[in-house]
Amino acid sequence: MPRVQNLSATKVSTWRQCRRYFKFQYVDFQKPAFTPIEWESGSVVHNILAQLMIEFRSRKQFKARVGTPRNPRWFHKVFERAAAAMQQAVEAGEVRIIRPGDRVEDYFQQGERALTNFTAEVLPRLQGRRILGVEADLGNFRLARTPIRGRLDLVLQADRNSSGSPEPRMAATVEVHDWKTGRRREEDALQARFYYFAAVAKYRAPETTFSFHYLNCQPGEITETFEFSEDQLAELAEEVAEVRAAIESERDFAPQVSTLCHWCPYSPMCSEGQTFIHQHPLAGGGEVETLAL
Ligand code: SF4
Repeated sequence: MPRVQNLSATKVSTWRQCRRYFKFQYVDFQKPAFTPIEWESGSVVHNILAQLMIEFRSRKQFKARVGTPRNPRWFHKVFERAAAAMQQAVEAGEVRIIRPGDRVEDYFQQGERALTNFTAEVLPRLQGRRILGVEADLGNFRLARTPIRGRLDLVLQADRNSSGSPEPRMAATVEVHDWKTGRRREEDALQARFYYFAAVAKYRAPETTFSFHYLNCQPGEITETFEFSEDQLAELAEEVAEVRAAIESERDFAPQVSTLCHWCPYSPMCSEGQTFIHQHPLAGGGEVETLAL
């Protein structure tokens, strides 16, 4: 019986999707056989956005606030380098293209589109806010005596002087922002609640908001913002207690085959997954994306 040291939104989502996958990853700590290209391209976008925010925070002229890059294609050079590294990783078999017919260039285009949408749609709304954290941890956030782990992509403080004036400010709202390069998924709701309540506990601002930005969606459909109530915190703690009890009493870790098997980095070690993959080949373009960062 595995003892649960901590939980994260990804861990719970993996547990709910396939217990065998959960065992490979979190009980046996097996090395994944490959990285699906969707994950890799999502990481590239996340890293570039984190780098931008770190520049805003560290360069004197921005005064630790979100600024405006002079060039709307500010990410171009760094993205090209990352794309070349991704191409090499695909050639080496470390990163795998799962959908039949897809090319690595399709993922470069998605990454560029995400960064372009970010620059045009999201960045202007963040201007002038003070940067409190980039890839920040959740502090000592616990639910049902279980430490909750995760990373807050960006934490901002919106205050009375969000225009950049150096005059004294009064904190009003802490905003947590999370970048998504895949489609909306049901599991995102759990991450939103974990991160929202963790930020409430960590930053203790009078108001807190949590936003997902689905950077590959159509302009106008990119951002979703949440606030939650105290009742929802109690429900969340109950949910965590239930998941923890279920994991700690698990013995079989039975495989749950599904379309996810195609993206599962442990599929080469899973005979049931292999059988499913061979019996249910992906249809190619337009296939519903089960996994996304
Ligand atoms: S291949 Fe499928 S059944 Fe096997 S561990 Fe992965 S997700 Fe689970």
